[in-house]
Amino acid sequence: MKETILITGSSRGIGRATALSFFDENLNIVINYIKEKEKAEEVVSILKSRGINSMAVGCDVSDFDQVKDMFKTIEKNFGGVDKLVNNAGIAPFPKLCQEVEDSEWKRVFEVNVGGQFNTCRLAVPYMVSQKRGAIVNLSSVWGQTGGSMESTYGASKGAVIAYSRALARELGPSNIRVNVVAPGCILTDMTAILSKETLDGFAQEVPLMRNGKAEEVAQVINFLLSSKASYMSGQVLGVNGGYYD
Ligand code: NAP
Repeated sequence: MKETILITGSSRGIGRATALSFFDENLNIVINYIKEKEKAEEVVSILKSRGINSMAVGCDVSDFDQVKDMFKTIEKNFGGVDKLVNNAGIAPFPKLCQEVEDSEWKRVFEVNVGGQFNTCRLAVPYMVSQKRGAIVNLSSVWGQTGGSMESTYGASKGAVIAYSRALARELGPSNIRVNVVAPGCILTDMTAILSKETLDGFAQEVPLMRNGKAEEVAQVINFLLSSKASYMSGQVLGVNGGYYD
C-alpha cells in the first residue's frame, strides 16, 4: 500500500526541497501551492520522472473551505493522508513592534498557525483510523529565541511549537508522531527580501559561519517522517548552524 505525503507550500524553497528529497516509488506526494502553479507542476514532473505518484493542488492553507477541497481531491486520488509536512508560511518584512498593523498580525497568524490547524484537523482522522502517522510542523529559530523586529513572525512560530507539543501528547497513543523543525536563516525567496548586509550579519552570528540551504532543512524533515525517527515525538529540531540549541 502506497503512503501519501502532503507537503504544504512545496512549489518553492524548503517545501520543494523536501518533496525532492524523496526517491521512493512507493509514495504519493501532494505538492501544495497558493500562487505558483507552474513551479508546483515542475516539482510534480520531477517526482513523476522518478516513478513517484504526485499531483499539485492549489489551496490557501489559511482558508478551511479550500483546505477541505484539497483533502477531497487527495482522498479521491490517493485515499487519504499518511504523513503531513506543514511547511507553508509567510514572513513579513522585519519591523518595530509598534509599527505592526492589525492586518499583518492577523494574516501571519492565519497562515502560519491557522494553516497548520486546518490541515492537522483534516489529516489526523485518517492517521487515527490506521493507528499510524507522522506530522512535521515548520517553526523558526525566531519562535525559540525571539528575534528583534520579528515579533509577529516569532510569535506565530512560537505558537507552532506549543501546538505541536500538545498534538504530540494527544496523538501519541494513536501512534502518530508530531515533531517540529526550527530552521535558522535559510537562503530561499523568503529571505531574499533581506539585504546582503543583513544576511551576512546573520551568517556571522552562526557558529558554522554561513546561512543554510533549503536541502539541509529538507533532509531533517525527511528523517523525521521516516521510520529512522520512530521513537521521536514532541521534539523541536533546530537546523541553524549551531546558532541556538
Ligand atoms: P518560501 O521560499 O517563501 O516559500 C513559501 C511556500 O509557501 C511557497 O511554496 C508558497 O506558495 C507557499 N505558501 C505561502 N503562503 C501560502 C498559503 N497561504 N497557502 C498555501 N501555500 C502558501 O518559504 P521558505 O523559506 O521555503 O519557508 C518554508 C517554511 O519554513 C515557512 O513556514 C517558513 O516560515 C519556515 N522558515 C523559513 C526560514 C528561512 O530562513 N527561509 C527560516 C525559518 C523558518 P507559492 O509558491 O504558490 O507562493
